[in-house]
Amino acid sequence: MTSTLHTLQSHFRHLRMVETASELPTIMRDAEKHSWTYQEFLEHILNYELKRREEKSVEKRLKSAKFPYQKTLEEFQMHEQQSLSTRQVNQLKELNWLEQQYNLVLLGPPGVGKTHIAIGLGLEAIHKGFRVQFCTMGELVHNLKTQDYIQKSLSQLKRLKEADLVIIDDLMYMAMDQREANLFFHLINDLYEKSSIILTSNKGPEQWGELMGDEGITTAILDRLLHRVEVIQLSGDSYRIRHRSTIFSGESVQV
Ligand code: ADP
Ligand code: MG
Repeated sequence: MTSTLHTLQSHFRHLRMVETASELPTIMRDAEKHSWTYQEFLEHILNYELKRREEKSVEKRLKSAKFPYQKTLEEFQMHEQQSLSTRQVNQLKELNWLEQQYNLVLLGPPGVGKTHIAIGLGLEAIHKGFRVQFCTMGELVHNLKTQDYIQKSLSQLKRLKEADLVIIDDLMYMAMDQREANLFFHLINDLYEKSSIILTSNKGPEQWGELMGDEGITTAILDRLLHRVEVIQLSGDSYRIRHRSTIFSGESVQV
């Protein structure tokens, strides 16, 4: 029996049903214990293989997305952010905008939850089968500038261009020179109408021009980014500051 089981496992592996192969002894034991019919047995095997494949593919996409941290939309406290309603968040969660290659621009001062919401939507997308890539504007510009001689930059850009959703965090954190703005334009052009982009920024589009330097390039970038877009303006004080942890609990330091 043991050698037959081994043979069966190797057949499953040969057919690339590796998950079932390793789980087969347990499945067989359960089948005997619960007196499954042939049909139930087959159902269990196929469901198990499909479930594990799906889990592994989510894990793979999560790793590839390169989120700086993982926070879900369920963890986002709606009462802390008055500019966005639960209904709006639920609507965004349905991801129709992603299926229709709409972009999202999340604006607002530091600490209001732009990155958190972007990551939360990214996680949602991954669980629904989409490929997501997260990068900061700093990383992106570095990759664009070094793609000709650093293999890692090139492969990260390739992955970015193949993603269904690209999250570019802190768009205007840094000013760009003409060459950088040009490279950025070409990337946005490559992604245009193929993928969705989520941009976070503490400055509105009207101020992007001065940071990208060149008027013509800025207009061309804005043209593509804002063609199909939902702009979400977040407001309020920084969540970090309101919920900061203190060393001297509740007391001010007296000298
Ligand atoms: P931003 O990108 O706008 O600067 P972040 O999204 O990085 O801000 O938020 C800063 C920190 O505060 C993160 O740890 C984030 O999870 C948390 N945070 C911000 N707003 C909320 C909220 N409404 N509910 C829960 N956590 C929040
Ligand atoms: Mg942020």
